[in-house]
Amino acid sequence: AKHEGKNGVRTFQPAMGDETTERVDLERDLREALVREEFVLHYQGQFDVRSQALVGFEALVRWQHPTQGLLPPGKFIHVAEDSELILPLGDWVLRQACRQAAAWGANERGFTISVNVSALQFEHANLLQSVEQALASSGLNPRRLILELTESVVLRHPEAAAGHLTRLRDLGVRIALDDFGTGHSSLSLLRQMPIDVLKIDRSFIQDSHPWEAASSRVLIGVMVTLAHGLKMKVTAEGVETAEQHALLRELGCDVLQGFLLSRPLAASQAEALLSPPAA
Ligand code: C2E
Ligand code: CA
Ligand code: CA
Ligand code: CA
Repeated sequence: AKHEGKNGVRTFQPAMGDETTERVDLERDLREALVREEFVLHYQGQFDVRSQALVGFEALVRWQHPTQGLLPPGKFIHVAEDSELILPLGDWVLRQACRQAAAWGANERGFTISVNVSALQFEHANLLQSVEQALASSGLNPRRLILELTESVVLRHPEAAAGHLTRLRDLGVRIALDDFGTGHSSLSLLRQMPIDVLKIDRSFIQDSHPWEAASSRVLIGVMVTLAHGLKMKVTAEGVETAEQHALLRELGCDVLQGFLLSRPLAASQAEALLSPPAA
């Protein structure tokens, strides 16, 4: 429980649950990690469904923890989101991803870099400025940057979201709707959103039961038809098997991402996915 301390300062009593203490510790560690620059980006390749050429990378954050090793975002991103640390962290991710893509020659080679944007970042007034700064300081062509937002974020305040998205798009960047199909999209709202790419959630791609697979197949087909009808591209994520690849190709998906094609890789390894520059 919280108690007012002597000077009106709140002190925490030991009765407080372990979980809360852990969270407070994690928040403090995250804050320090930002200062010490302990975060790294891994990059997962995205490939054209037909030619299998590399068309982009998704930047995925990890925490190089001093004692616990490399931590996936599932271990810390929710705490960053709850504590507003996601704002400076998200800024760092944006700048780092743009810088890396520019260094790899994204402008000349024509591939894209996708960056995840969390709810708080999207609703924060500074996102537009952050994106502009990341582009300006890296020299990355805005056409090379894709911002990934989840369905739930975009549809929470649809009218405000449409405005934010339009302003971002006016910079020349593109918008992807992440984890598509898992939220509660209203199709009419989708029509009003300036979105360039639908990313079909991996739960539709990976089925544990054959009877689910049959209906997923139908749903993927519907999502592709919908997206193409609205002039959007379709990316399928979580592609792990050759069968899934063949099916997604048959159903008309444009871009594939998944362990079958490439795992998320450290920058030094991801670089090997780039074709050698023309002599
Ligand atoms: P996401 O945006 O849906 O990213 C895809 C996740 O699926 C990644 O997990 C990736 O490693 C994993 N994945 C890719 N291909 C496959 C596959 O074939 N099979 C399976 N089973 N999984 C696959 P990761 O890197 O652990 O990231 C988890 C989530 O953390 C991301 O989900 C995203 O929501 C969030 N995240 C990652 N980086 C950032 C970031 O920089 N900012 C924010 N706000 N969120 C991030
Ligand atoms: Ca994503
Ligand atoms: Ca996703
Ligand atoms: Ca996800």
